Amino acid sequence: IFETYFGPYPFADEKYGHMEFAVNGAAMEHQTMSSMNSFGKFTIAHELAHQWFGDKITCGSWNEAWLNEGFATFGEYLIYEKNGMTPAEFLNHLQFHLNSITSLPGGSVYVNDSDLGKIPAVFSGRLTYQKGAFVLRMLKWILGDDDFYQMLREYVANPNFAYQYATTENFKNQLFISTGKNFTEFFNDWIYGEGYPTYTIKWNQPVANQNLHFLISQTQSHPSVGFFEMPLPVKVTGTNGEVANLVLNNTQNNQNFSELINFKVANISFNDDLQIIEKNSTVIYDPSLLKAESTQKQTVILYPNPVENEINFKGISRQTAYEIYNMEGVLIEKGNYHPSSSIKVSTLPTGIYLIKINEAVFKFQKY
Ligand SMILES: [Zn+2]
Repeated sequence: IFETYFGPYPFADEKYGHMEFAVNGAAMEHQTMSSMNSFGKFTIAHELAHQWFGDKITCGSWNEAWLNEGFATFGEYLIYEKNGMTPAEFLNHLQFHLNSITSLPGGSVYVNDSDLGKIPAVFSGRLTYQKGAFVLRMLKWILGDDDFYQMLREYVANPNFAYQYATTENFKNQLFISTGKNFTEFFNDWIYGEGYPTYTIKWNQPVANQNLHFLISQTQSHPSVGFFEMPLPVKVTGTNGEVANLVLNNTQNNQNFSELINFKVANISFNDDLQIIEKNSTVIYDPSLLKAESTQKQTVILYPNPVENEINFKGISRQTAYEIYNMEGVLIEKGNYHPSSSIKVSTLPTGIYLIKINEAVFKFQKY
């Protein structure tokens, strides 16, 4: 499993073993030969994960022990998820870590210089291990599994770090190089900053089968972070059991979202799969929310128009099926629109077309 997700075992020529030693509860990831007090499956997983994160790439200073311990704890998650726990058991375990991480309002994953003399601070179970691992889980949520693990394999294989060491900033730069996305703000919030957000999610669907409105606000447990930007996992359930999983890209406080949901909404739930760190968040049905707005029929906007290469939509934030017709009503193309990408129309001949998405029809000009 680790070779699939992290890349080849780093010391294949030397093989790998582990030995028993008599210190209660202790384990140590000696390169190619880990020492453990007991051979529990997840102790084995943790120490083996260290061969990639700790032994192949060592943390550049004790300030960033999370590059060893957070990653090895994330390695445990991988084994829980892929080989060892049911989904419910895995969620239980994540909830246990989440409760621990949020048991105090402050504390950063990055170890401050003033704490470097304190072994319990450098090896804080709550921050270096659990929050460090959960930060990786959030990066996986933001990037998606494929891009996240691809990035991780590129980090492990990067000749600047392999069989040497890396710093938090090196890892942040690897994220940028591998994904093209800038995670400076994310690291400021989650690695150097302290605490966690608490969300209030108000919702209303004034007219059944039409727009579902959200008003999302956030407070922070610690003043070191002004706002946690995050794509929020929101699950919408309909009166007949319909399900829509939304990703609401929360970039500012008191943010409004409108989603066309073509069923009658019965329930909204938040962070069901524990993708992000938050605590005590509430979801509130608020019938007064944007009630007047319900008279506006269409909140989906197509742009640009006329279009040469790529069509985008405003007001659609989840994968949605679309169909393109010519003016004779002949279906030309169908597929799924995803808000993080766009619909390529560069190969269509010049002309006027219709595109149908979410029961709405737009006319656009291709040039
Ligand atoms: Zn460890």
